[in-house]
Amino acid sequence: MSSKKAEKKDLGITVKKSEDIAEWYSQVVLKSELADYAPVKGCMILRPNGYFIWEKIQEYFNKVLEEKGVRNAYFPMFIPESFFVKEAKHAQGFNPEVAWIERKDENEMRLAIRPTSETIIYDSYSRWIRSWRDLPLKMNQWCNIVRWETNAVKLLLRSREFLWHEGHCAYESEEECKKETLMFLDEYAKLCEDLLAIPVVKGEKTERERFAGAVNTYTIEALMPDGKALQLGTTHYLGQNFSKAFDISFLGKDGEQHYVYQNSFGFSTRLIGATVLMHSDDKGLVLPPKVAPIQVRIVPIYRENNKEEILGSVEKIKQMLQSKLRVDVDLSDNTPGWKFNQAELLGIPIRIELGQKDLDKNVVTVVRRDTLEKTTYEMNDSLLDNILNLMDDIHKNLYNRVKQHIEKHTIRSSDLVNAIEKINEGNWVLIPFCGNPVCEDNLREKTDGVTTRVIPFDQPKDKTEKCAVCGEKSKYWVIISRAY
Ligand SMILES: [Zn+2]
Repeated sequence: MSSKKAEKKDLGITVKKSEDIAEWYSQVVLKSELADYAPVKGCMILRPNGYFIWEKIQEYFNKVLEEKGVRNAYFPMFIPESFFVKEAKHAQGFNPEVAWIERKDENEMRLAIRPTSETIIYDSYSRWIRSWRDLPLKMNQWCNIVRWETNAVKLLLRSREFLWHEGHCAYESEEECKKETLMFLDEYAKLCEDLLAIPVVKGEKTERERFAGAVNTYTIEALMPDGKALQLGTTHYLGQNFSKAFDISFLGKDGEQHYVYQNSFGFSTRLIGATVLMHSDDKGLVLPPKVAPIQVRIVPIYRENNKEEILGSVEKIKQMLQSKLRVDVDLSDNTPGWKFNQAELLGIPIRIELGQKDLDKNVVTVVRRDTLEKTTYEMNDSLLDNILNLMDDIHKNLYNRVKQHIEKHTIRSSDLVNAIEKINEGNWVLIPFCGNPVCEDNLREKTDGVTTRVIPFDQPKDKTEKCAVCGEKSKYWVIISRAY
């Protein structure tokens, strides 16, 4: 008996989010069965609960891609070294983390496992794009990539292999290309807000943090509960850097040959990690209702003498809800208390309890996961609408909770010493900055890993004067913090 009790206790989360967020996070991910460590160091296993969330993200974003005229395709995971070195900055930026395979191809060429696919895709584009009639060419692929990280694995946040999507578009004009690069960033922000209940800051990366080979990199960033920033997605305006390297040219309407303008953009399974970190609590996972594998769990509470009656009503409730919701019933032989804990650990947004007292009053007891508040709803035709409204309310509450947290922890400071103090207290800080890459290196070195995260599009009204790091003339306000 005592050993069984201990076992059950271990099912729950044993550390507090506020006390040890790293341990808390890995317990939540493992115990809610989202992901697991792999036998190969640096890799992760996405379990069905985690993969389901990825599928919901794919479903949402595939609709966006279709609307914007981007078609899905698939390119090989092996990239010949000769492609890799064509765009010098790109090769230089990615080289330290590329995994090469030992077996060479028929021409004795070394092959890389893709860390991103610009080079292999643009080799095809150079053959497929002939005239202005072939443009714009817009493609996306959902795939895995490998970046040989040396940092410790954090499930869903940092691993050597992960899943992502990468969009690659080619255009006739600079203007159209730039416009769509920003449009995709807007779509990323909408996805985070509408689906995952995560408010983000949109903006541009500094030169030092730019994608290797890009003219500009744009980003959506979110402040995590421990004060570290997490980059949730980036879009890159590549200009003609790759089209010149890969000779992607077309016959224009003017009868002349031109190089195309290009962008690329991507987000990864990190989005799942961010969702977990943001919303979950000491009882386990908290999920935004739209991505929860199970949205409503019904827990019947009965004895032998009323089992049939209770289960009959539970079945009716399930029928009522399942046309629009993902519903299940916990029919296991565990105690109701154990079942409640389990539903909370798994992050099921709504739990419906039905016992004799409820049945006598023709009501159900409803517990929402985000606040753990209990309410009762009448067991009639309005139940489905009430539950759907509650789902909306949970999404809004999760979103607002995070938004308030971020607002409270976004500080402005023109003094670096003060800024670092604020960062150490769990904030991210807007500082005036000169934009000089050397100054940025100094910042990182002086501060034990604080980096620039984003130059927000939404800049403070106050003029910036001196760079908070070097004292030279500043160009803009930039958010600095430690990052995942
Ligand atoms: Zn400076």
